[in-house]
Amino acid sequence: MRAHTVILGAGATVATVPNGDKNGNKSSVMNGLIKKLHLDDILHGISLKTNSDNLEDIYSELHSRSDCQEAVAQLEQVLYDYFAALELPEYPTIYDYLVLSLTDKDAIATFNWDPLLLQAYVRCHKFTDNLPHILCLHGNVGVGYCAEHREFGTIDAICPICRKPLPPTKLLYPVNHKNYTSDEYIKGCWDATEFIIENSYMLTIFGYSAPSSDIEAVKLLKKAWGDLDKRQLEEVSIIDIISEDEVLKKWEQFIYSHHYRHSNDFFHSYLGMFPRRSCETVFATVQLNVTPDSSKGFQKDMTWDDISGILSKVLHDESQTPKGKNYPLHYYVKEQFS
Ligand SMILES: [Zn+2]
Repeated sequence: MRAHTVILGAGATVATVPNGDKNGNKSSVMNGLIKKLHLDDILHGISLKTNSDNLEDIYSELHSRSDCQEAVAQLEQVLYDYFAALELPEYPTIYDYLVLSLTDKDAIATFNWDPLLLQAYVRCHKFTDNLPHILCLHGNVGVGYCAEHREFGTIDAICPICRKPLPPTKLLYPVNHKNYTSDEYIKGCWDATEFIIENSYMLTIFGYSAPSSDIEAVKLLKKAWGDLDKRQLEEVSIIDIISEDEVLKKWEQFIYSHHYRHSNDFFHSYLGMFPRRSCETVFATVQLNVTPDSSKGFQKDMTWDDISGILSKVLHDESQTPKGKNYPLHYYVKEQFS
């Protein structure tokens, strides 16, 4: 079975900590962040041409002005520190469900700087080590990278070769023409993302609004997905709070005919309904006329024990499946075959 690639934007982090993180800190909503982070001090004495309170607009302007380079450096430090301090609550969050809904043939490529997805990955590792690859397309405060030995890991880890703490990765800040090749770690993530998208059966876009400063990024994703004529069997899934009409308009260049599913939340997406077997289940439904059973997946407000319970059979099946073979189906209506 081919891969399932998930692209994450800021909306996914908002859905993960809708009421703030463990300490009540709000996640990356770019609008209004200037006030929230008390950045007025940094901007004091600078008269901005933009009237926007959106961080991307303000950062782009500062970055383009030679008289504002000190403010740019201060802004970057404040942002880094703010995101680095975010922590997952103790209870299972959307990022935990997401990490557990995929296996090691799959990937999550995120545009987010916050460390919450990485924290989810670390604690989900207690259930299984059969987890997706995580790729950080704009860098991430939760990831460290040793450039000398090309080793990366969580920010608190050490390089397995030189045994030194992994230095933080650079963050790619919001300017209109981002250079995705200037930083080695970020370039590596892009190369891997393009490769896995090319080889994917399913693509899920979760909470990613493709802001105007990301035109280049969307072009790269589209290039990897390729012509729709060659994507007649594949399925695209969009998880977004915006309406279906807006979703279709925004992502039409990725969707062949009616081969898509739009849901307003994670639990009604293929990933939420068919964790760890999304590609297998959709393939069986579309190609083999198998009736899927969407009642056995993740539900809102589960406990860690609930999660352990619903995953026990699929995890057992995985442990019994020889490497390279397809996992058996799990989410289908059994009466259909009796
Ligand atoms: Zn090293």
